[in-house]
Amino acid sequence: MEIVAHGLWAAAAAITARRSTKASVHVGWAVWWAAFPDVLAFGPQVAVGLWLRFAGSSAAADGHALPHVHIGLPLYPAGHSLLVFLLVFGLVTILARRIVFEMLGWLMHILIDIPTHSLSYYATRFLWPISDYRIDGIAWWTPWFWAATYGALVVVYVLLWKKGWISPARRRVCKLAESESAASR
Ligand SMILES: [Zn+2]
Repeated sequence: MEIVAHGLWAAAAAITARRSTKASVHVGWAVWWAAFPDVLAFGPQVAVGLWLRFAGSSAAADGHALPHVHIGLPLYPAGHSLLVFLLVFGLVTILARRIVFEMLGWLMHILIDIPTHSLSYYATRFLWPISDYRIDGIAWWTPWFWAATYGALVVVYVLLWKKGWISPARRRVCKLAESESAASR
C-alpha cells in the first residue's frame, strides 16, 4: 500500500481506539509510525538525492528529478519485518514502561503490505532476516484494488464522522478546558 493510505488507515484506527477504549492514543504519532517503514526505506535516499541535487553535484540526474542514490543498507526489509518490529516494540515498551499504542501503526503497515504487494515488486519479506518467505498478493497499484481501497476509506471516514468522532481540534480543546474548569470548581 502507499504511504497516504497507510496514514489514513492508521488515523482511522487510532481515532476508533481512543474513542472506544479511552486509551490515550495520539493520532498524529500513530500516522507517523504507520508511515515509518516507508520513510525508513526511502527517506534517506530522497534526502541524499535532494542534497546532491542542491549541492549542484555533477552526478547527473540523467533525466530523473533526483540523482539515483543507492544507500546499500537493508532498510526496506528491516522496516517491513515483523521480527524487527517486535524487537523494537519490545525494547520501547521496556524503556518507556508502558505500551506505546501508536507504534501499532507500524505493525498495521506490515500487515497491510503483506497481501498488497505482488512477487514482481517489493513483496513483503515479513520474516526477514530469518526467512525470505513472501506472499504473491494483489499489488496495491492495480487500478480496481486502489479504487476499492479508497472507496473503503471513504466509507470508514463517513462512519467516523457520523459517530461524531472526527471533531475539529479547536472544539476538543474547548471541551477539555471546559471539563478542566468544571473539575476545578
Ligand atoms: Zn510499505
